[in-house]
Amino acid sequence: MFDLDQLKQSGRDMAADDANPPRFDQSPDELRHPDSCPALVLNADYTPLSYYPLSLWPWQTSIKAVFLDRVNIVSSYDRMVHSASMEMPIPSVIALKDYVKPSEHPAFTRFNLFLRDSFLCQYCGSGDNLTFDHIIPRRLGGKTTWENVCAACSPCNMKKGGRTPQQAHMQLRERAIKPTTWQLQDKGRAFPPGYLHETWRDWLYWDIELEA
Ligand SMILES: [Zn+2]
Repeated sequence: MFDLDQLKQSGRDMAADDANPPRFDQSPDELRHPDSCPALVLNADYTPLSYYPLSLWPWQTSIKAVFLDRVNIVSSYDRMVHSASMEMPIPSVIALKDYVKPSEHPAFTRFNLFLRDSFLCQYCGSGDNLTFDHIIPRRLGGKTTWENVCAACSPCNMKKGGRTPQQAHMQLRERAIKPTTWQLQDKGRAFPPGYLHETWRDWLYWDIELEA
């Protein structure tokens, strides 16, 4: 038994729950622990808030958002949660009532930079032992910016040393750009998670072939 009433009245910050990553479980809905029933979160335009990492909320957060009237329930699991006074199915897809405008440019973080470069060395294409390379080395005045940092495997990074790509005769596979949020989301679509609940599929478009 899960105390929905207490949850409903709790004043806990919703963001705090986002720190608990959802667990994945392939078993039928009704046999699952609620912790394996995260909700896919869509913006008010019914596009996912984020592809990678996929925007998922734990069941407590999604039910709280329902009670707070912040979301519409689009789809639900065949898994009920109960309290003394009521029961309800756990939402599997929810849509925000208020549109969240994405910022034009994503934050300059290690994860986003690797994502821009598709987690591949920009010199040889390897996905192993990734590090960051200053394209124009710092000692030559190169800055730590989107346009001057790229993913590089450690062998390439060592080989290039303190030289420019021209000096090292190492060509970048793609120009280092400052991506827009859309460009980065597009990159994220190449990384579908290992598990997708059936109710999520209609709302997600991955760069993979559709099953016949
Ligand atoms: Zn490399």
